[in-house]
Amino acid sequence: MIDTQDIIITKAKDSKIDSLDLDNIPFGRNFTDHMLVADYKNGKWGKVEIKPYQPITFDPSLAAIHYGQAIFEGVKAYKTHDGKAQIFRPEDNYKRFNISAKRMEMPEVPEEIFMGGLKKLIEMDIYWIPAKRDYALYIRPFMFATDELIGVKPSSSYKFMIILSPTGPYYNAPMKIYVEEKYVRAVEGGVGFAKAAGNYGAAMFPSEEAKRKGYDQVLWTDAFEHKYVQECGTMNVFFIIGNKAITPGLDTGTILAGVTRDSVITLLEELGIQVEERKLSIDEIVEAHKNGELQEVFGTGTAVTISMIRELRYKDYVMNFDVESWKIAPKIKSNMDAIKDGSAEDRFNWMTII
Ligand SMILES: *Cc1c(COP(=O)(O)O)cnc(C)c1O
Repeated sequence: MIDTQDIIITKAKDSKIDSLDLDNIPFGRNFTDHMLVADYKNGKWGKVEIKPYQPITFDPSLAAIHYGQAIFEGVKAYKTHDGKAQIFRPEDNYKRFNISAKRMEMPEVPEEIFMGGLKKLIEMDIYWIPAKRDYALYIRPFMFATDELIGVKPSSSYKFMIILSPTGPYYNAPMKIYVEEKYVRAVEGGVGFAKAAGNYGAAMFPSEEAKRKGYDQVLWTDAFEHKYVQECGTMNVFFIIGNKAITPGLDTGTILAGVTRDSVITLLEELGIQVEERKLSIDEIVEAHKNGELQEVFGTGTAVTISMIRELRYKDYVMNFDVESWKIAPKIKSNMDAIKDGSAEDRFNWMTII
């Protein structure tokens, strides 16, 4: 077992932080001074290192880029009003990471390496967490196959890494979405529940097709009937219908079990709103819209938190929403933001203080 004190640390000679305007940064383009690396070989994890952020070199036969054993996570750390740093529900990302690893026939990462490494890395680059509201430090743990040979079989070696990227507010205008009926993201028995790199590659063509048609994203439907909604691009999706919130259930394994999704469910219930996790058909959504019962539709995920949907199109039927008049989604977002920035009590024990 590896202890946090066993991490081999090489500090960067100079910090890049002064070359950056932390108050004005795009999403995912800048990285902090350090990164974490751990290698898995011969059935066990080797030394864990934190070293200056730098390129990695590999042989052109690297297994991950040929056969796709690659998974990742997305987590965020925030600054509180009183200058403390806290991470939002990292344990849940840790658990999900190993669920993804298992499905992709990759080794599980021990908690000491994932959680211990993540905390230590953030501690070292703590002054990179922007202090402004809606700003955060995006944490990207990932793992990929590193065997250098051509052959379709599980790799015997892997690299686990964590990199950190300070981010500004994600451009978060209300979205136009259309219900996808040709392409699919996930099918029962597939890898939809895993944060596996290939899922995102496979979704790019349909997503760009949506953009070419003037939409921001697609709402995925089930692979068999194109009838039951799954998620929206790379966000889980919620529908406020009547006095209930409905979100697709996780039981079919075709939906990524979002940490934000889970948090939104908790916050909705806290407001006394009944939440149903179940199959939801597009017919039921259209019906609710025709009855005037469909009030709000929004996506949830770590990058955006909550993203409102102003237009939803199914075939020729267009549903428009006056997002300015919404009550629930904005309330949930501000309740969640308040926990993250420390202005509200951490009543669900979501925050890990560094
Ligand atoms: C990461 C992701 C989400 C959101 O999960 P969070 O844990 O809330 O960030 C939803 N759908 C897909 C496909 C994802 O990859």
